[in-house]
Amino acid sequence: MAEELTKEAKKEKKPRVAMPEQAPQIRARNFLEVPTGYTPEMAMEEASRCLQCKKPGCVDGCPVGIDIPGFIKLIVEGDFTKSIRHIWTMNSLPAVCGRVCPQEIQCEGKCILAKKGDPVAIGNLERFVADWERENGTGALPPVAEPTGKRVAVVGSGPSGLTVAGDLIATPTRIQLRNLKPGTPYTAQVRLTHRAGQPFNIVETSVVDQNEDQPEIIVKPIDERAYRIIINGTVPEEARYVRGTLSIKTDIDGEEVKKINYYGNIVRN
Ligand code: SF4
Repeated sequence: MAEELTKEAKKEKKPRVAMPEQAPQIRARNFLEVPTGYTPEMAMEEASRCLQCKKPGCVDGCPVGIDIPGFIKLIVEGDFTKSIRHIWTMNSLPAVCGRVCPQEIQCEGKCILAKKGDPVAIGNLERFVADWERENGTGALPPVAEPTGKRVAVVGSGPSGLTVAGDLIATPTRIQLRNLKPGTPYTAQVRLTHRAGQPFNIVETSVVDQNEDQPEIIVKPIDERAYRIIINGTVPEEARYVRGTLSIKTDIDGEEVKKINYYGNIVRN
């Protein structure tokens, strides 16, 4: 069915399906979102415009490499649950990205249809399946890995922190510190940002990289919103701040799955 629809789209050059919006006189009196979202029929219609390119420029334009034609094809087929799960393999926050990503210079800017007209409304479709899952989903969560007994501190509860937390739940992990010179010990004190009302879990961890050419890092909780990172590394005397990257690798095959940037004040030992 999806193939028939995309062939049809090639022939017909269907117009882009506009997302409905609140009328100005109504939206002037409330703080709700102005665009109100696609209906399932609208989403399937818009998805059917996708040509299912063999070398999809849209994927090249997506910073997290979502299989865009793949999730769009599942919308054409009406399988919204599979579609959102397909996106989740590369992106934990599609409801956010579908709304705030600058699609016009990313995926949609690279869509082949943009060369001669309107690109596929990739952002609107991503938003649609995320909202559909929230409102109608089965509640079946993605697979969660067996606990390893190890604990990891995620610094920050913004989009990157939430993504890392989601990935860590799905993947047994350990942490290694990269990009710092070995040598003098110093301490970085990291304050977690936290917005009231958001879910937030504090975990305790102690992470040590045993490699000689790598500094040692120990992460200790100070209170419920702060961690102290103790690092055997070298920093210039005048340095007042520390920045670095925690490289997260799987316990299974050592494959790097994520990098976390951290930032904090230096406390001389
Ligand atoms: S480039 Fe456009 S038409 Fe081609 S697969 Fe991506 S979204 Fe579909």
